[in-house]
Amino acid sequence: MINSKQLIKELGLVPNKALGQNFLIDGSCIERIADLARCENESVLEIGPGLGALTDALSVRADRVLAVEIDAKMVEVLSSVLGEHSNVTVLHRDFLRMKESELFSAVGSVPFIVAANLPYYITTPAAMKLIDSPLPIRRMVLMMQQEASEHFLAEPKSKLYSPLSVLCRRYYTVRREFELSPSCYYPEPAVQSVVLSFEPNGNEYDPAFTKLLKACFAMRRKTLRNNLSSLVGKDFAAGVIEAASLPPSCRAEELSVDDFVQLNHTVSNGLNS
Ligand code: SAM
Repeated sequence: MINSKQLIKELGLVPNKALGQNFLIDGSCIERIADLARCENESVLEIGPGLGALTDALSVRADRVLAVEIDAKMVEVLSSVLGEHSNVTVLHRDFLRMKESELFSAVGSVPFIVAANLPYYITTPAAMKLIDSPLPIRRMVLMMQQEASEHFLAEPKSKLYSPLSVLCRRYYTVRREFELSPSCYYPEPAVQSVVLSFEPNGNEYDPAFTKLLKACFAMRRKTLRNNLSSLVGKDFAAGVIEAASLPPSCRAEELSVDDFVQLNHTVSNGLNS
């Protein structure tokens, strides 16, 4: 097992707070995440490998691991620490700036599993980049701050319900797997963390669905009708809402995923579809 705390001390490294560098040091949590990934004979994308504690556990199970790391110092250390793992490729890149096509070819142009202890400052955009994409993702196991996880699991009518929560439900079955206390990390963060797993539910990716959601949630205080008008015009918006048997004054946060699916169908195919 790679001991990140010991490596940091031995190499005189200073964890970079701005990059969310809280390294996992609890061996059983690392193994648990790697087990949840169920990546035997599969290709894995790891975002933010840091000093390689999770990468190591993934690489003994997986066929191939692509580890994308933004910090040049980590990349340098990783290359020597993981030297004997011939199935790991470390890419020195900002994950958020990678194009889908680049990611897909770097991972070997095959369906893949995602595993990550996500840096807190990119949790939502990084997850959104994967959820809101046609990439052939077999499964995701993402560790994040407890507070961030609530946005993924939010139910209709809650304050946190958003396009992210709807997209999660549309494309994945999301499960809260387990909690981690700050003592599982070095340095210790001030907050609790959780691991979420995302199992694809077979619904095909549709970019028009995301466009609709973004329009519906654009101004939370506005009614659905007002928000939708900016996408399809006032009269059509009213017709679409009526066709879906929704009250004219309803707001996006009151709608279920099925309501959004129906709205999208009508917007894409017309009122007489
Ligand atoms: N996986 C390691 C572990 O569990 O011990 C490190 C996790 S640490 C929370 C997050 C890692 O993500 C850091 O190594 C950090 O440098 C890296 N990182 C931060 N922003 C990133 C980005 N935009 N793209 C890729 N890696 C990033």
